[in-house]
Amino acid sequence: LVYATAAELGDDLSRADAVFLGLRGEQALFACDVQGGAAKRWRGEAEFLELRTVATRLSAEESGVAAQARSLLDWHKRSRFCSACGRETTAGPGGNVRRCPPEGCGTEHFPRIDVVVITLVSAGDRCLLGRQPRFAPGLYSAFAGFVEAGETLEAAARREVWEESGIELTSLQYAFSQPWPFPCTLTLALIGTAAAGGGRAGSEISEVRWFEVEQLRGMLRVADTGDTSAAFRVPGPMTLGNQLVRRWLEEFDARSSRG
Ligand SMILES: [Zn+2]
Repeated sequence: LVYATAAELGDDLSRADAVFLGLRGEQALFACDVQGGAAKRWRGEAEFLELRTVATRLSAEESGVAAQARSLLDWHKRSRFCSACGRETTAGPGGNVRRCPPEGCGTEHFPRIDVVVITLVSAGDRCLLGRQPRFAPGLYSAFAGFVEAGETLEAAARREVWEESGIELTSLQYAFSQPWPFPCTLTLALIGTAAAGGGRAGSEISEVRWFEVEQLRGMLRVADTGDTSAAFRVPGPMTLGNQLVRRWLEEFDARSSRG
């Protein structure tokens, strides 16, 4: 990431639309939309790129800043009108709130996130992965879906796994999470344990299949090399589907070495 000062941005900067992101050391960071204004290249040292294509190359701090900026700017674009009464809203100071005017209903609107849960199903020395019809050939992954209104995270994970694979989980363990600013999703990754094998493909899944430890190691190696011709593989290293399999294998190895 390259950070520009307000003076450097000049006419490309609309101060009214800048969104406050926070402090980085002593510096205040703002995000602003310069689409259409700024030249393709920035002072010859940087280039404007689609975040989705470069997110995996950024550090954790940089990708956090970029995700926050992208999500907030996108939220402002999609929230120009009050969802309660339809009046035009205005951004509050700092840009972390939008307000409906007093002549409307006066509601304050805050950025929301959609919560997704992705669950890896395991039983003994095997994991169950599924294929969605849109997946490229050979690609298998854990089961993911939105958390619905009124659901706990655990209930959503159990429901999604049941719907997509017919498996009932006996236990669930939180692993990690990943924000995804397209536009504003937070995905929580869990590892679930099933009592036994079996399973059947649900309505959004074309096939479910159990994979043993060594097969899973092989699928991770294939994902690392980016080989898309292998018969079985998991998604790329930056995805939660990949990282869940990696985490499960680490825990499996730790259990095995303890005997
Ligand atoms: Zn309103």
